[in-house]
Amino acid sequence: MDSPDHLRLSLAAAMELGFAPGTFHRDARLHCVNLLLTYDPGCRANCAFCGLSRDSRQRLDNKQFIRVSWKAFRTDDIIDRLKRVQEHGVVQRVCLSMITHPRAVTDTLALTERLTTEVNLPLSLLISPTVMTTDDLASMRDAGAERIGVAIDCATEALFDRMRGRGVKGPHRWDHYWGIYSRSLEIFGPGMSGVHLICGLGETERELCAAMARAHDQGGSTHLFSFFPERASVLYEQPQPPLAVYRRIQLARYLIDHDLIGFVDLDFDDQDRIAGFGPADDDLERVIASGEPFRTSGCPGQTPAAACNRPFANERPSQRLRNFPFPPHETDVALCREQLFEDCFAPAQGGIR
Ligand code: SF4
Repeated sequence: MDSPDHLRLSLAAAMELGFAPGTFHRDARLHCVNLLLTYDPGCRANCAFCGLSRDSRQRLDNKQFIRVSWKAFRTDDIIDRLKRVQEHGVVQRVCLSMITHPRAVTDTLALTERLTTEVNLPLSLLISPTVMTTDDLASMRDAGAERIGVAIDCATEALFDRMRGRGVKGPHRWDHYWGIYSRSLEIFGPGMSGVHLICGLGETERELCAAMARAHDQGGSTHLFSFFPERASVLYEQPQPPLAVYRRIQLARYLIDHDLIGFVDLDFDDQDRIAGFGPADDDLERVIASGEPFRTSGCPGQTPAAACNRPFANERPSQRLRNFPFPPHETDVALCREQLFEDCFAPAQGGIR
């Protein structure tokens, strides 16, 4: 059941491709089919927040990742189904995620060639820098990949080291991750790589804004996630970040990635919470009313909106939506506007409410 003959599919992807029954809450549809390499015994890394880590497997034979189960299917069958849906317009992208494993690069290259030759959809690769060199990036581009995602996840070097590196006896190193990201932008071109960052791992709002600005200043963008405690992970008891924090971070990300502000424009209070959005404050109501800042951020589809919309990947369907996988309704936007400062934190400048 190992890659490259088998791949894991997110539950949403299994549903969209007809491998699993069911429909999503609020009729959400999946626009990016997420595939994951699979090996026995699995990922060699040990990230504190991940359900696929070495220690998670010891606690529970868990195959949960980004909140949902990922079942393995034959690669041939997945490709057959992708061919069937490729012209319907619902699925607009495929993303293949590596895990930290010695065979991951070789198999990713072979699968990239197959997927881009046999399926008429753009392909993103969510890479694992730890098992890669910069030369591998050029091979991935030459094999047909269109975009790159680098899951840096943690906003600061100290947090990264504690959650993914030495703190968990893990192999990942902060400088190597950012170095590979920077090189991927040179090889794939400006705007063709993005950084995954998770809100709620213990960073301050200022720190997360600085990391998002770094990703954008280098020529890419941020694909933002809200922390969700994975069942078997070290952090399974850690609460999710308050919605107010996540809404402010979503808004900051949108403004930074759309060149409406830089990090220096943001105002922070004495607890490093966002207190103002600088020159964007005057235009903020229009930006909020569009609902766009609250949608899932990720690799685009046929329009600039993210194809990678990951329905309910950061919350249970019974909970308040964090990343909207579709354009938010007017009532959703009104709620997001309220949530922005529901921790009673008064913005330093006018125009926010
Ligand atoms: S944003 Fe989505 S499609 Fe892009 S690299 Fe990340 S998981 Fe893949």
